[in-house]
Amino acid sequence: MSTELLNENKDLRRRLTAVMANARHNEERLRRFHEQELCLLSAGGLIDLLRHAVVGHRQVFGLETVSMTLIDPEYELQRLLVDLGCSDGFPELRFLESGEELAAFFGTAQLPKLGSYRAEHHAALFHLGPPPASVAVLPLLRQRRLIGSLNLGSREEGRFIPGSATDFLERLGAVVAIGLENAINHERLKHIGLTDALTGVHNRRYFDRRLIEEVERVQRTGQPLACLFLDVDHFKKVNDTYGHQVGDRVLQEVAARIKAQLRLSDSLGRYGGEEFAALLVQTDAEQALDIAERIRAGIAAEPFRLGGDHNLAVTMSVGMALLGAGDCDGDLPAAGERLVAQADEAVYKAKQGGRNRVERAE
Ligand code: GH3
Ligand code: MG
Ligand code: MG
Repeated sequence: MSTELLNENKDLRRRLTAVMANARHNEERLRRFHEQELCLLSAGGLIDLLRHAVVGHRQVFGLETVSMTLIDPEYELQRLLVDLGCSDGFPELRFLESGEELAAFFGTAQLPKLGSYRAEHHAALFHLGPPPASVAVLPLLRQRRLIGSLNLGSREEGRFIPGSATDFLERLGAVVAIGLENAINHERLKHIGLTDALTGVHNRRYFDRRLIEEVERVQRTGQPLACLFLDVDHFKKVNDTYGHQVGDRVLQEVAARIKAQLRLSDSLGRYGGEEFAALLVQTDAEQALDIAERIRAGIAAEPFRLGGDHNLAVTMSVGMALLGAGDCDGDLPAAGERLVAQADEAVYKAKQGGRNRVERAE
């Protein structure tokens, strides 16, 4: 074979290897995109989805910044995140009280906007770290309604070029929006299923679940957990004298007054008819008795104004029991049940002692 042919052959092989490598690279990229899409669509909950959407995209696309903007005029999403124990877990996430500015940014086309970073347009969307060089801002739409934006930022000036095809980014925005709506609806349903419709505090189902989690925490951290059991005094008489509807309003006001004395990390559940139970985390006996006394006084001190001429004096009896690190050996659900039963027994003691008082379990 001539040298010329040999060289040509070598050159062809080299080019073939390069093409193969490029194809493998593209295939690998496609596989990662596909995987990322599946992650978004099968996210286990809102937190999981947000994590995939912001952290996941940064890693999969090799970007410097990914942030998300969500329109949340009634603070519903922010409240859901607090309930999920994640009030400040996502610095990449930003909430807008109104969607007007974002809608104006996208205009009527409602398509991804690619181009160089411009502080006057993008500063609010890329609020973390140094500003990127080029950006792609994807509208998140549900039934043509704008719910937010996914903001991709790169250090490379030429990464996102205005006018380039955006099919892929449109699809990505649609998948994120569907995933978000799914996750939000799912959390909404869960929230309803764990809330008492009359008083708006949690229900027994939530309380029982939370109890096991909190007992686990005692075992893990060694920090004590206090349980308060609270029962309205002579509540039957309220119903008998003023009727069921006034009774219902008393329960709503009682729940609100109890809640006013608790911290965000504590949980309050309506345990049964006119009985409530509260879990006070990382609280010793002295602090718990103090909170119990504040709740009792907060109810007894001010008559309930229920409109018309119903000014009712209402009182409550409160029982307190404490779970320390030494009290939960192995069977955690049993330890939880024991704690509530002890607090309930202490209420009985308070009733026998004349009501409108706080008693501690033996
Ligand atoms: P004590 O001081 O011993 O606790 O007396 P009490 O009257 O509060 O206790 P009892 O258990 O005899 O009565 C509780 C009443 O609460 C009976 C029930 O009709 C009423 N109740 C339970 N659930 C509701 C509700 O959702 N709304 C109203 N209005 N009443 C309720
Ligand atoms: Mg009762
Ligand atoms: Mg009662």
